[in-house]
Amino acid sequence: MITVKDLHKSFGDLEVLKGIDATVDESEVVCVIGPSGSGKSTFLRCLNLLEEITAGEVTINGDKLTDPSVNINDVRTQVGMVFQHFNLFPHKTVLDNITLGPIKVKGLSINEAKDVGLKLLEKVGLSDKADDYPDSLSGGQKQRVAIARSLAMNPKVMLFDEPTSALDPELVGDVLEVMKDLAEEGMTMVVVTHEMGFAKEVGDRVLFMDEGIIMEEGEPTQIFDNPQNPRTQSFLSKIL
Ligand code: ADP
Ligand code: MG
Repeated sequence: MITVKDLHKSFGDLEVLKGIDATVDESEVVCVIGPSGSGKSTFLRCLNLLEEITAGEVTINGDKLTDPSVNINDVRTQVGMVFQHFNLFPHKTVLDNITLGPIKVKGLSINEAKDVGLKLLEKVGLSDKADDYPDSLSGGQKQRVAIARSLAMNPKVMLFDEPTSALDPELVGDVLEVMKDLAEEGMTMVVVTHEMGFAKEVGDRVLFMDEGIIMEEGEPTQIFDNPQNPRTQSFLSKIL
């Protein structure tokens, strides 16, 4: 589903990604871990062209993102992204937040979009919040709305950038549960997270990123219980 070859990304003189090679198979859940500043967010943002790619190749579902003729809006429809901060529109209801994209970008009628939105709200356990405004929701509920909003575009791949890091601990579980359901339905997912429990239970593979490269990758149990690279060992000893 995703192939990344020798991906480089620089901001001016600062080279942040220094040659990333990675593949993600259809229905695979790949978790990305690594220290702050190692380039995890930049890597995800390159996968849906929120960042211009400096060099290398990224192919998603057969579309070469690095091809100059690629349609950025098509790519963003196919590759959903959920951020640490939910970025909901505060002056729109929960349902309107979800239906906006399908109506504007996909050309659904208001009623079609509402049907989609209500089904997704049910899926994330927030059917009763359709007419509420984001400010009245908890962080965990907002994040579940953000996931529903992303899913409303019917993406082929979902990218999550530390989706639970801004949440109070007691709200994390519900969000991870929604992500787990999504994984079980076969969604292809790349998840930047330090939630080891999630990575072990749901992840098929873990990538450890440091200094703009993938230092180590493997199955979750191998990475967490028996890391080979000293950098991975040192990172895990700090967070576990
Ligand atoms: P992580 O998500 O692993 O914490 P990031 O991808 O956010 O890392 O950042 C990696 C490096 O790239 C950091 O040094 C950060 O300051 C830098 N960086 C990220 N975005 C920009 C930008 N838009 N302009 C300049 N530097 C940036
Ligand atoms: Mg980040």
